[in-house]
Amino acid sequence: MVIKNHSNLQTTTASYLQSIYTDVLQRSPHEVEFHQAVKSLLDSIAPMLSQHPNYIKTGVLERLVEPERMITFRVPWLDDQGNVHVNRGFRVQFNSAIGPYKGGLRFHPSVNSSIMNFLGFTQTIKNALTGQAIGGAKGGADFDPKGKSDLEIMRFCQSYMAELAHYIGADLDIPAGDIGVGAREIGYLFGQYRRVHRQFEAGVFTGKGVDFGGSHGRTEATGYGTIYFVRQMLKQLGDSLNHKTVIVSGSGNVSIFAIEKAIELGANVVACSDSDGYIYDKNGLHLPTIKRLKLDEDQRICEYLTDHPEAIYVEGCDRIWGIPCDIALPCATQNELDEYAAEQLIDNGVTIVAEGANMPCTQEAINLFLDKGVSFGPAQAANAGGVAVSALEMAQNSARVAWSFEQVDQMLQKIMKTIYENSMRAAKDYDLDGNLVAGANIAGFKRVADAMVAQGI
Ligand code: GLU
Repeated sequence: MVIKNHSNLQTTTASYLQSIYTDVLQRSPHEVEFHQAVKSLLDSIAPMLSQHPNYIKTGVLERLVEPERMITFRVPWLDDQGNVHVNRGFRVQFNSAIGPYKGGLRFHPSVNSSIMNFLGFTQTIKNALTGQAIGGAKGGADFDPKGKSDLEIMRFCQSYMAELAHYIGADLDIPAGDIGVGAREIGYLFGQYRRVHRQFEAGVFTGKGVDFGGSHGRTEATGYGTIYFVRQMLKQLGDSLNHKTVIVSGSGNVSIFAIEKAIELGANVVACSDSDGYIYDKNGLHLPTIKRLKLDEDQRICEYLTDHPEAIYVEGCDRIWGIPCDIALPCATQNELDEYAAEQLIDNGVTIVAEGANMPCTQEAINLFLDKGVSFGPAQAANAGGVAVSALEMAQNSARVAWSFEQVDQMLQKIMKTIYENSMRAAKDYDLDGNLVAGANIAGFKRVADAMVAQGI
């Protein structure tokens, strides 16, 4: 390893960080989402680097922004009519300094190397922040599961895993779900892995069915975790979720369980969405209908009106941010909440915004929230509950035990509280009191960077 000599101390932290960023732009010129994720981290850690030049001297950032490796592969599959289709599969093994590579798989037409790198990079920081021994990874394919039959999904998963099976393992790289990859897909993927390796290696995948090594509470963990994090944010303000008006974008796994926990803690959740539009009911959404439509029947959210004609359906999912609320939870996808949406939320009196999805707010939107004193919970912290419970699933698989839902939920609550406290403390240490973006990035970065320096990797 070449350790760069930055001894000419005229090199200021700012110009050093700019050079790191410029290198990323040059090396991956079209990867705009990856640029955004890197920039956000670099901006956050600037005050820390000024006080700890050792991170500059050891070239840890040059190493951190480059994935350890990325695997891409062909995924051919047959549709129900016998036609051949080919998708591109990915797995980016971003950083293994503190544990085996860990992160979900996303099946969505937008998947490309930029999306993979941004997700793998932010996963590295998020996983470190959980306090668990898990490195960062991400994978997926530019496959659109929408409208595919169950058999088509199964054939796709089997073809995808026929290749990926050679690169993962319980102590090497442990995938899980993400957008387009839920319990059904994980079952097919895990089944195919077992056929390739001919052994029952439960810890190679998380998010499995509870009958074959899955953890109780993993399905709920990301959504519940986001609400546990919001509860900490509210506590800081001397407040609670009781009677708060909440809007949640999306209607997938994260959104549904965020809605469930928010309602349980006394909130009135008035809107959620899918990629076509949003539903709004000022008296509160009926969660069992949303669960049936989205988890059981794979329907569009507009179908909600069939059972609930009193609700309103509006086409265009980004318009959801125009609804007045106390708490806004973007839980759908990257860059779904821009500066204009942030302005609308602020004008309507929002007090808390927390990211259930990965990087759902643009940098301009985040800056506006921070400027206007809106309490903001960044994804690395607010949605870390999912991967944290994945690490608990790995622990159960290693020990060949199964914990109860209550045990896992208690641990999740404790982890989210610790993440909140560690992020707040890290922000305070650098005179950035209350800035959870900086705090989460600094705390996560510090753990990974220290491990990389200690191991000389
Ligand atoms: N896809 C989830 C995330 O973004 C979960 C990853 C996992 O459990 O490995 O954190």
